[in-house]
Amino acid sequence: MEMFYYWLNRKEVSCFPTASVLEVNENNLEEFKIEGAKVWLDCLGKNTGKFVSVVSWKTMGGTFNPEGLAWDFSKLKNEKEINEFANRYGLLGISTPGQAEINKIKIGKDLYSDASYFIDLPIGHSNCEPIELWFFHIKQMQKLLKLYQALIKIHKGEMQESEIEDNLLAVKESIRGNCQILWWDGSWTGFTAAEDEMEKEEGFLKLAQGILALKVNSIGNQDIKRAPETIVTGKSPLGFTIKEWDYTPHLIRAIYRDLWQQIANNEPVHICENQNCKLPFKKVKRQKYCSNACKQEAYRIRKASQTNS
Ligand SMILES: [Zn+2]
Repeated sequence: MEMFYYWLNRKEVSCFPTASVLEVNENNLEEFKIEGAKVWLDCLGKNTGKFVSVVSWKTMGGTFNPEGLAWDFSKLKNEKEINEFANRYGLLGISTPGQAEINKIKIGKDLYSDASYFIDLPIGHSNCEPIELWFFHIKQMQKLLKLYQALIKIHKGEMQESEIEDNLLAVKESIRGNCQILWWDGSWTGFTAAEDEMEKEEGFLKLAQGILALKVNSIGNQDIKRAPETIVTGKSPLGFTIKEWDYTPHLIRAIYRDLWQQIANNEPVHICENQNCKLPFKKVKRQKYCSNACKQEAYRIRKASQTNS
């Protein structure tokens, strides 16, 4: 077994270092000695940066319930909430960039105006992750949940297929017959498609389904490990049975694994009715907003529009 692991289907104590947010700059870089922080800062072209890091950890995380993790993760709004999440669950599990990734990130930084250069970085152990990387993955999760929600609505007939193209995905000019598929906010999905594929009638629906399945699968369904356990039963023919328990050494896989389960179980997704939020969330009873803060904000917006009219 690995040194660190998150049980995915077993109610036993998991083992992983918890993490917290801290600022690394020229003055404390030496003092903290966070392995990888300098590489990341160079990559991002900065001297100072916020990191989620295990450096100050004194505790190992114990109880871990992967159910609902994708939702909790997608709702993280700011540094404080990221800190609380990392205090409980540790690092995501994105490796410190090696030379190949450093080059990729540096080229990507010139190509994209957003954080698209974080796409597809290798998963693995490290001691720190830049907070930008966390925000990138949080947004990825929000986008996938929105895509999932849209696909449910299309299947139910509550949304037109053509709305995918208007509201969710966009195609960037083709380079040599290949189009870049973008999210609605202009960031790259990580996918390209042949130009002639996009001209087909069902092109966008297929694309949307493919992006959801491939993205979730590539993180949440790979490298899931199994630990067997023999349970003595006394019954013939062996006198014991074997049970398999799933675990992953990396939190990011557990988060995507949860999303995979949501999809496999056809769990519904709702969109927060606060116009300033519109984030996906899992509805409890008749809940309309993702959080109390959103409920209050929506109330204030309603009040303001009433007094204005
Ligand atoms: Zn909200």
